[in-house]
Amino acid sequence: MFEFMDMGFDQASEAPVSGPYIPDAGECLRCGMCVSTCPTFRLFQTNEETPRSRIRTISKILVENVAITADERQHLDNCLQCRACETVCPSKMAYGELFDQARLKLEITPSWLGKLALGLIENKRWRMRLLPGLAVYLKSGLQKPLRRTGLLKKLGVAEAEALLGKPALKGLAGHYPAKITKRGQVALFTGCIAEHFDQETLQAAIKLLNSIGYDVTVPPQQGCCGAIHQHNGQAAASLIANNIAVFNALEMDAVLHAATGCGAMLSEYQHEDAEAAGLFRQRLQDINAFLLAHWPDDQRLQALPKKVAVHEPCSQRNVLKNQQTVYNLLAKIPELEVAALANNPLCCGAGGSYMLTHPDNAAQLRDLKRQAITAAQADWVVSSNFGCAVFLDVDADKVSHPLLILARQLPI
Ligand code: SF4
Ligand code: SF4
Repeated sequence: MFEFMDMGFDQASEAPVSGPYIPDAGECLRCGMCVSTCPTFRLFQTNEETPRSRIRTISKILVENVAITADERQHLDNCLQCRACETVCPSKMAYGELFDQARLKLEITPSWLGKLALGLIENKRWRMRLLPGLAVYLKSGLQKPLRRTGLLKKLGVAEAEALLGKPALKGLAGHYPAKITKRGQVALFTGCIAEHFDQETLQAAIKLLNSIGYDVTVPPQQGCCGAIHQHNGQAAASLIANNIAVFNALEMDAVLHAATGCGAMLSEYQHEDAEAAGLFRQRLQDINAFLLAHWPDDQRLQALPKKVAVHEPCSQRNVLKNQQTVYNLLAKIPELEVAALANNPLCCGAGGSYMLTHPDNAAQLRDLKRQAITAAQADWVVSSNFGCAVFLDVDADKVSHPLLILARQLPI
């Protein structure tokens, strides 16, 4: 018997009679099935770094209303929110929701840097003002000398700076008409920073949708999905309400997301107006799934005699559970060899803002993922989540969204 099998869950606590599901400590069976799925257990090999131990801490916060120790807090914060533990738990612990509730209750005050980052992802006008300066900095050649001074590290922005890619200064247009006879119309969720830092993927999405007969609308009033706020213990209600109002006001066949991290958050939107939230979720679809379902039989792609390895983001594997659509969509490219990365069940370390808040843990997990990438011997790696792609692609220039490969193979 492993030591971590005894978690001291002898005293079951009272569950609330209404409201969102909150775990009763007694609901954890102490089975240990979640332990081997957990990336932090993989790194630290300690009982405290297991989902079950965190469930115990969450229960103290949410159910027992007792103070937790600094150690318990640190182990809780080490969680990547990959939700791999949810997929195997026989008690169906809603770990992601419980974690968010617990962090909200802890009333975390963000650092000045955290406040700035949250402000920037909330506020489009701030971002638009900052982008030209950022583009000049990235072009100036100052990056390397500035890194050497150590100033970026002192300011706590070294990790974020290392991830910066060249931003697109101009946003997307509001409407892109179908290139063949119109079959329908869809709205595209672009969120916050992707419109500037992953515009290539969004353009590929639009090109593909237009090529199979769909008009694409990109409503400018949309905003951040709220995932970073929620996972960091901050209220996301106003961001959620805005997106629900913006997209529900449109007459569309579907609302599509092209980043699974955002998609996972959007797919679980709750709102005081349950009907409005329900309508939003009902029309929401992952773009890979939508393209696959609506791909015309006579739409041929150019052959590509290369090999691509598929990275399956946690948000796709553990929440949306539609990773197979990527393989099926890429299979439409003649002669392309498509393979899964060997360690797909293990989180790559990106974890939303985790790569910035826990850079050492994140880098260790990335190293493990890179070993699998090397072993795959593929020409490219694809990931349907922008955050994972950016994090894995540092110094690699090999990871991109599957839609970029598909769009390049459209007939000329
Ligand atoms: S969400 Fe991921 S990192 Fe967090 S406890 Fe579960 S498996 Fe571990
Ligand atoms: S899998 Fe679920 S029931 Fe089993 S130890 Fe983990 S949290 Fe508890």
